[in-house]
This record gives sequence, structure tokens and C-alpha cells, in this order.
Amino acid sequence: MDNMRMTLSECRNLAIEVLTRHGCDARNADAMATTITGAERDRAHSHGLFRIPGYVASLRSGKVNGHAAPRVERLAPSVVRVHGDRGFAPLALEIGRAPLAEAARETGMAALAITRSHHFAALWPETQALAEMGFVAFAFTSSKPYLAASGGKTPFFGTNPMSFAWPRRDKPPMAFDQASAAMARGEVQIHLRDGKKVGDGVGIDADGNPTNDPAEILKGAQLPFGGYKGGSIAMMVDLLAGPLIGEVCSFEAGEQDIEDGGPATGGELVLALDPSRFGGEDAIAHGERLFARMLAQEGVRLPGDRRLIARQETPEAGIEVPRVLHEKIEELRIG
Ligand code: NDP
Repeated sequence: MDNMRMTLSECRNLAIEVLTRHGCDARNADAMATTITGAERDRAHSHGLFRIPGYVASLRSGKVNGHAAPRVERLAPSVVRVHGDRGFAPLALEIGRAPLAEAARETGMAALAITRSHHFAALWPETQALAEMGFVAFAFTSSKPYLAASGGKTPFFGTNPMSFAWPRRDKPPMAFDQASAAMARGEVQIHLRDGKKVGDGVGIDADGNPTNDPAEILKGAQLPFGGYKGGSIAMMVDLLAGPLIGEVCSFEAGEQDIEDGGPATGGELVLALDPSRFGGEDAIAHGERLFARMLAQEGVRLPGDRRLIARQETPEAGIEVPRVLHEKIEELRIG
């Protein structure tokens, strides 16, 4: 793969320039650039610059509102809703974080429902930010049909990710973030771009037959991780990010989508729990004892550690961007 290097500030400036050119106002472009640059910094490449062509496609088609002004409402003491105004999710999440934290401090636990927004990124930025504030956090979002339900042969659920974060003493939070699919769709697309096969169990072709060819999977359906167990998680995420908060399920998002290559409309549920109101002062220290026991075993690492190592390295090393992707983004910057 022919790659080029960029600094994080070059990445951020490029994201802002391209998104502004195609219709984002300054607030939306800034929130998007933070998400994109954070993904590149943590070497979560499938949710960094790689997503820009999709973001631009949805700004151009008018599906996404680049001037979105998300509105906050407190529906109950522990329920906050942010109406996303048809914008990309990062600004709605940014705006909802402080009211969610305030509600969780007051009541011990609170939920943030993001509605009418378009999520195309990783979920760890939202759970990690809450864990940095001392909360245990969960996030769930659905998308449009890519994943077969257990036993099914056609796409039904989104790749429906969930993330969980736990605050740590004097360390960045532990945050895991995983799709309900055996492989995230962005990774299947990256395998196709790079001419690589995917492993067994990632997907089926349009006739429902198992295949390792990413092109055939993209025409057929992805599969949940862990068979029916992952299928149940995908269903739970659809229910939490859809019906629970008055939003669409993946199948409904698919029916509404105009297939412009960008993110479908939908919702997200974020939960924040204050550990001091549950396990008391010892909760976080007790979690540390669990992590220490885990890590004492050879071969064990904490989820999220790969990203944390990358986060330390990239400010100096810079990020590697496939030249073909950079050229595509450059065309969007000037065209
Ligand atoms: P991965 O399978 O790469 O990783 C899932 C989690 O497992 C990560 O937290 C990872 O931590 C952890 N992990 C991986 N290997 C190990 C290991 N050996 N030991 C312990 N933990 C490990 O992620 P997915 O492909 O499932 O998802 C990728 C991203 O795609 C997610 O960020 C998700 O939010 C996003 N996504 C977004 C969608 C959307 O609609 N917005 C849809 C679907 C996915 P680490 O990072 O440290 O390796």
C-alpha cells in the first residue's frame, strides 16, 4: 500500500476545509474534525479520513444538514434528549454531554437520547469522554441493514455497535467498542480496497452462501459475531437506539435512506452511571484490582489498549494515509 504521512493538525485542517467547502458550518465542521482526527490519532482508520467521502456525499445530496443546531430537552430528571436537527452525530453528542453528566450526578444514573442524527463514526469517543469525567458509560447506535439476523440470509440489522467505558485511577479509561457484526463494515470495505480476503464467518453472498470475498459480502450480508448471541446483541441495539427513544430501527432507516453513500438517519442511546452512588468510594479501586488480576495472566490485554498505545505514538510519528484516499479527499477539497 502506497501511504503518505500527515501530522494530526494537517489532518484536522484538511477535514475542516473539505467539510466546510461542502456545507458544514464552523461548529459542525469543528466537531466532525475532532472525531475524524481522534480516530486517526488512535489508528482507528476506518472511522477517520476514510469516512470523508461518505460525509461529503450526504452534505451534497442534502440528506444531512451541515448547519444543524441540535436542541437539548430534559424529558425527566434522568432523561436528556438532544434533537440532532438532521446533522452529523458529533455535534449533538458534544452538546448533550454536559446535561447528561449533570443529570447523572444528580440522580446517580442518566440517559442521553440522540435523535434525528447521522452516525458514521466509532462510539468510544462518547463513552471515553464520560469515563474521563468519572462515569461508567455505555453507548449504542443502529444504522441501516447490513447484517443478517441469526438464521436469515438478507441484511436486516445495522452493524449496530456498542461501547462501554470504565474510569481508571490516574490512567485513561478502559473503553471497548465493538460492532455486532463479526467485522465492522468499514473494515470489509478496506479489505476490498486493499484486495484482501476476509476471514471465515464474516459474511454471506447474495444467495446466502458463506464467502471470504469482501465484494460478494457487500452484495450479500454480513454476519453477527458469535452466531445467534451476536444476533441478539444487534437486536438489542436496534431496540435501544430505535423504539426506546422514538427513533427508527435499522430496517426503517434503510427504507428511508437515499443511498448516497453517507450515514443513514437514526438515534443513539448513551448511559452514564456515577460509581460513587453504587459501589461507593471503593468502586473504581475495586475495578483496578480486577484489571490487575486480568493483566497478571500472560497474553491478556485490556480492550482499548491498542488505541491508547497509538495515541501516545501518533503525535510524534504522524498518521499514515493511503495515497489513493488522500487524492480522493484532495479532489473534494478543491472540487
Ligand atoms: P474490533 O473488533 O477491532 O475491536 C472491538 C473491541 O475489541 C475494541 O475495543 C478492541 O480494542 C477490542 N479488542 C480487540 N482485540 C482484543 C484483544 N486481543 N484483547 C482485548 N480486547 C481486544 O472492532 P469492530 O470491528 O467490531 O468495530 C470497529 C469500530 O466500528 C467500532 O469503533 C465501532 O463503534 C465502529 N462502528 C460504527 C458503526 C456506526 O454505525 N457508527 C457501525 C459499526 C461499527 P482495541 O481498539 O484496543 O484493539
